[in-house]
Amino acid sequence: MRDKLNEECGVFGIYNTRPEDTSKLVYYGLFALQHRGQESAGIAVSDGQQINYYKDEGLVQEVFDPKLLNFLHGNHGIGHVRYSTTGGTTYENAQPVVIVSSQGQMALAHNGNLVNTKELMGELESQGATFQSSTDSETILKLVAKNAMETGDVTQAIKKTMGVIRGGYAILLLTQDKLYAFRDPMGLRPLIMGRMDDSFVFASESCAIDSVKGDIIRDVKPGEIICVDADGIHSEQTKVTTTHICSFEYVYFARTDSVIDGLNVYEARINMGKRLFKETGRKADIVIDIPDSGTSAALGYSQASGVPFDKGFYRNAYIGRTFISPKQDMREIGVNFKLSPIRRNVEGKSVIMIDDSIVRGTTITRIVKSLRRAGATEVHVMITSPPVKYSCYYGIDTPDRSKLIAAKKPIEDIGIEIGADSLSYLSHEGLADCLKKSGLGTCMACFDGKYPVPVEESK
Ligand code: SF4
Repeated sequence: MRDKLNEECGVFGIYNTRPEDTSKLVYYGLFALQHRGQESAGIAVSDGQQINYYKDEGLVQEVFDPKLLNFLHGNHGIGHVRYSTTGGTTYENAQPVVIVSSQGQMALAHNGNLVNTKELMGELESQGATFQSSTDSETILKLVAKNAMETGDVTQAIKKTMGVIRGGYAILLLTQDKLYAFRDPMGLRPLIMGRMDDSFVFASESCAIDSVKGDIIRDVKPGEIICVDADGIHSEQTKVTTTHICSFEYVYFARTDSVIDGLNVYEARINMGKRLFKETGRKADIVIDIPDSGTSAALGYSQASGVPFDKGFYRNAYIGRTFISPKQDMREIGVNFKLSPIRRNVEGKSVIMIDDSIVRGTTITRIVKSLRRAGATEVHVMITSPPVKYSCYYGIDTPDRSKLIAAKKPIEDIGIEIGADSLSYLSHEGLADCLKKSGLGTCMACFDGKYPVPVEESK
């Protein structure tokens, strides 16, 4: 099991392209977002008359081949990559979710998590609705379809739906001739809009728009509903309170080459490294990263401290779904199939090692051990976020609170348990300062338990 918080999904959509290009562009966009979900992938395309779709378990390149992409023919399309959690990894939970409504077919791709799904599902079921999956995404789509039947207008139906759903969401909804993009009123999950000639593009992260050579227009605003149709873009703003973009997007989830809500992820991570030096003042022979999210922060630490940066690990990037993970007893003797220390760089040296977070503490213990076996004389672990003490309910897979090492132990004890000579975390204020340049306020609930959307029902 990966000892990290996991992003649950990524979405990508495009409106008005050449029919032969649409599914391929969505495929490339999803490929750029693969880090946000590796369990399933799906694409839905509309030719103006009909929505065709295909989805399955697996990586984007495992699910789709050229024949399938040619079958998905049309001018508009959306796609989804998913990391599954409670819903399981079944086909039914893959997205986009597609239904037939009073307004014709609708397909929906969702990144995030609602905190009141059970209540909403119960209401819909009492009105006769049935569900194919266990996802909140199907609940949202069924609500939009029901509201569209009542209002006769999809934008108004989305607005009505946003009035009752609670949690984090960034959603793309495709009808036969329109594409809608909407984001939760707090802006918990990211969503950005771009342009390619006469086409409009939406994605969870800017790196996906860059990957299809689109130009960034702007982020979808918290609480905004955007509709793209043959006349262009129409925006409607719903009520927004205080905004809370997920701080973990900058710490770990997002790709280093993305910009979210005006803040460059690379720059934010460089600043986290610089701030770590300001807070700890620690010097050593070398500073190394745990790739990839620790890399920019390690560079920042080096720039601020003058401690030379070098690569501490070789990272094996070729691990597919069928890889046979070592069983518990083999893990205990230190098998680490992903990261291998570069002995030449660490032997005989005191090392500062930068990582983004500690969840259960199992992986980092093995990594510290492996550095010592490679000859490091001291291992000082530095983390670019405060201790993770609370679970997330807004679309990030976190273990139960009882499994979070920082919820159970003080920092000194964690340092001893993972075998480090010292352990330092970035302070809450330090992280907040590094994220100030984002246009939004930040969610820090997994560090401080201050949930911007109440979660009693999910606990
Ligand atoms: S609780 Fe943590 S992971 Fe979840 S949205 Fe807030 S900052 Fe992000």
